[in-house]
Amino acid sequence: MISFQVPPAIRQVAAAVERAARELMRPAARHFDEHENEVPWDYIPRMQQVLRSFGGLPVAPPPGGDGLHYQRLAHIYEMLAWGDAGLYLCAPRGGLGAAAVAAAGTPQQQEQFLARFRGEQPVFSAMAITEAHAGSDTSAIRTTAVQDGGEWVLNGEKIFVTGGHKALVDTPGFVVVWATLDPALGRRGIHPFVVEAGTPGCSVVKQEKKLGIRASDTATLLLQDCRVPLDNRLGYAESAEGGYQGVLQTFDATRPLVAASALGVARAALEFLRETVEPLRPRSGLPRSRMTNLERELADLEALHRSAWLLVLKAAWSADHRRRNTLEAAMAKVRAGEAVVRITQKAVELLGPLGLSQEHLLEKWFRDAKVNDLYEGTGQINRLIVARQLLGYSRRQLS
Ligand SMILES: Cc1cc2nc3c(=O)[nH]c(=O)nc-3n(C[C@H](O)[C@H](O)[C@H](O)COP(=O)(O)OP(=O)(O)OC[C@H]3O[C@@H](n4cnc5c(N)ncnc54)[C@H](O)[C@@H]3O)c2cc1C
Repeated sequence: MISFQVPPAIRQVAAAVERAARELMRPAARHFDEHENEVPWDYIPRMQQVLRSFGGLPVAPPPGGDGLHYQRLAHIYEMLAWGDAGLYLCAPRGGLGAAAVAAAGTPQQQEQFLARFRGEQPVFSAMAITEAHAGSDTSAIRTTAVQDGGEWVLNGEKIFVTGGHKALVDTPGFVVVWATLDPALGRRGIHPFVVEAGTPGCSVVKQEKKLGIRASDTATLLLQDCRVPLDNRLGYAESAEGGYQGVLQTFDATRPLVAASALGVARAALEFLRETVEPLRPRSGLPRSRMTNLERELADLEALHRSAWLLVLKAAWSADHRRRNTLEAAMAKVRAGEAVVRITQKAVELLGPLGLSQEHLLEKWFRDAKVNDLYEGTGQINRLIVARQLLGYSRRQLS
């Protein structure tokens, strides 16, 4: 049964994260927006301590858990992004690379690569799919993996890797790199490979300067005859073909969480809007014809935010109950990406100069919003997934 009450176990954790968001994130948000790519070394260990106080943020549900893993993460990520969307991406947690290992790795690979996240030191991981010629269309990936004796040799360039610098340079983490064994095979030739920090032949050659989420580093990786052990191909021991499918399942788990973080930014903007217009005493519950324009806008934005949040909860709940949630995850991502862009844009519009002034964070939230409609599948791509799921079409039939 879905309950509309937040379980007490989640409420407690969310309250602790809210305190940390207020105390550690909000005060630092402007500084790291203005100092892109500066690593927040003061914030990272302090946030690590907070997260560890309730068991950290494990990427996969622990055995014998309480069945609330993804729902708990959704509430926590929403709250962290409410604190600051860029610093949320610098919070020490597994990240996308670890989520890929959890989804596609064998038990041995999970132990080998995920144990580091249980230690005292902050560690990061990242996932490198995108290339200059391959974004939404992953079949166009050109990074190659060639077997040479007991190793894979990787060659290629990956762009826009979130947390790539933190995973490879700042901490002893890893990046999961998608590469093809044979470009002629299209998607079937693509497999995920774990490249650990310090591996010769893998270097960070650039860090982007971006519109928003500037506290989060976004790296370009160069792989030049980069050698990794055969066992670093995820799922290798179990299946030669299963890697790609396995990593696609990563997105079913992570899209609801990205959607949750989008809604954290949206909530920050909505609260700021509400507080600022409070002296005008906006009313609610009236027929639309008797509302002022501001009241109508507020009511619409609240409804948009709440409906998107319900989709997130449904997608996370489905994941907790081990139900296939591809449809719900894509729907939540579409709706939340749309909601955060619309809510931040409307808040800026309704507040005029206050919305644009750097004395407040609203203009930053407006800039932080758009990426939610881009990474982990753009709005259009997630709509395609929804359509395929609803109409029963394959990728080939509808793309
Ligand atoms: C800040 C940031 C962080 C990122 N982090 C990561 C990361 O950690 N790892 C990683 O691998 N990538 C990452 N990315 C890359 C991101 O996932 C890609 O930008 C995204 O997948 C889109 O790919 P693209 O930019 O090549 O656009 P394209 O795929 O070229 O798309 C361009 C436009 O066309 C639309 N489009 C494409 N195909 C279709 C279609 N079939 N039907 C309808 N519309 C379509 C898209 O929706 C988009 O609007 C990040 C990007 C940003 C901006």
